[in-house]
Amino acid sequence: MGEVSTRSTRSSGSTRLINPADETVVQTVEHTSVEQVNDAVARAVVAQRGWSALPPAARAEALRRFAVAVDGDNENLARLEVANSGHPIAQARWEAGHVRDVLTYYSAAPERMLGRQIPVAGGLDVTFLEPLGVVGVIVPWNFPMTIASWGFAPALAAGNAVVLKPAEWTPLTAMRIAELALEAGLPSGLFQVLPGRGDVVGERFVTHPEVKKIVFTGSTATGKRVMAGCADQVKAVTLELGGKSANVVFADSDLEKAAASAPSSVFENAGQDCCARSRILVERSVFDKFLHLLEPAVKAVKVGSPLDDATEMGPLVSAAHLEKVRSYVPDDAQVAFRGSAPASSSEGGAGFWFAPTVLLPASRTDRVVTDEIFGPVVSVLPFDDEADAISLANDSIYGLSGSIWTRDVGRAIRVARGIESGNLSVNSHSSVRYSTPFGGFKQSGLGRELGPDAAAAFTETKNVFISTD
Ligand code: NDP
Repeated sequence: MGEVSTRSTRSSGSTRLINPADETVVQTVEHTSVEQVNDAVARAVVAQRGWSALPPAARAEALRRFAVAVDGDNENLARLEVANSGHPIAQARWEAGHVRDVLTYYSAAPERMLGRQIPVAGGLDVTFLEPLGVVGVIVPWNFPMTIASWGFAPALAAGNAVVLKPAEWTPLTAMRIAELALEAGLPSGLFQVLPGRGDVVGERFVTHPEVKKIVFTGSTATGKRVMAGCADQVKAVTLELGGKSANVVFADSDLEKAAASAPSSVFENAGQDCCARSRILVERSVFDKFLHLLEPAVKAVKVGSPLDDATEMGPLVSAAHLEKVRSYVPDDAQVAFRGSAPASSSEGGAGFWFAPTVLLPASRTDRVVTDEIFGPVVSVLPFDDEADAISLANDSIYGLSGSIWTRDVGRAIRVARGIESGNLSVNSHSSVRYSTPFGGFKQSGLGRELGPDAAAAFTETKNVFISTD
């Protein structure tokens, strides 16, 4: 670290990683070629055979050791994420702890991959959950280690090998986690992290016949392309894609609490979160009061050095992403109020900073209302009644997450059932727990990750009938 970058960060065979907070060069990472992907998959095929042949208790124990190794490296992993992705250190420590927890949770799975015994005439009918073989996991840059673990932990637990492609700009924590797997004693070749370009490494995962399933998290556009590629081989695919989630605030709610918690539900990780509640829908009768309560909460968000323990929001991930987010807030945008942020490079500072921003769009069809901005920008819109709230919340191609604020239990249940979304939270903003299923409706995705069924999603069900005649 220390050298200041002055130009583009990508060369044909490597990427210079830039610290998003100060634009210093962190490290240069070599790209994996198609030939190297082929070699890695060949090693994974061999490793998987040995891994799935181990007693379930031995696989469980290996995953527990892996979790312990991740736990022991928490501070190092967190600091890598701070440097590579600009995440606040407190958040990054939580993320490394979450990887440990996901591994610990799925370490219980190998001994619980339960088949069924089905009553039939003339014999015994049983099902087995067979591992798929090699699984390809393609990870985005917004939560590099947590999203990686949602794929690799249950896939390994179910008896598979994993090849994993981190996002080109944020590979460092995944690369370190692969080292920790080896240090913990997982067999060589079982879990390989292959940094490089999506259109090279990611596409080869999709086209390689020995990669039996793709787990993809990222943009809806790339996800559609991955799904189309998988169709060619009838390859299984799980997609976790974009979101434009609604935070629905009814007049009968605890408005103070709803307003105080709204900033973290959209500005956490600088809004680079598929679950960000980036549309706040407020019942018209309390619209002005809610905005009045929201303003101090937004202005209080601590935006600054990711290494400061008190920082709540860091910079955006890259210069290109900062430009994309900025394009949604032109000079004539209807800004209600903004928080503060350090000066970005174009303003005489260094780093890819963007202040928390609250917009009051004139129309429900404005692109700030419909597009996933993936930055610290939230739109606040009024609604008239319960039916209007549900219809406005559902007026999106996405359906990933969302929150409902009301003191009326019946209404909370009606609205939760009415909103087309995979993860809803009442009087809170909870989205992701490793023990509960996570995934999207509509163009937010396909399939579910996490929760008690995730390991089974990395298996094929085999039915065997044994005649007793
Ligand atoms: P992408 O969907 O392009 O990237 C996600 C992952 O897919 C990365 O690892 C990427 O590799 C890889 N990839 C890219 N092209 C291919 C391909 N042809 N085949 C297989 N894998 C591929 O997202 P972007 O980084 O371009 O972000 C654009 C926008 O997408 C964001 O602004 C945001 O709106 C949304 N997004 C949503 C996320 C979510 O969690 N739902 C996460 C990330 C982005 P590489 O990094 O090398 O390009």
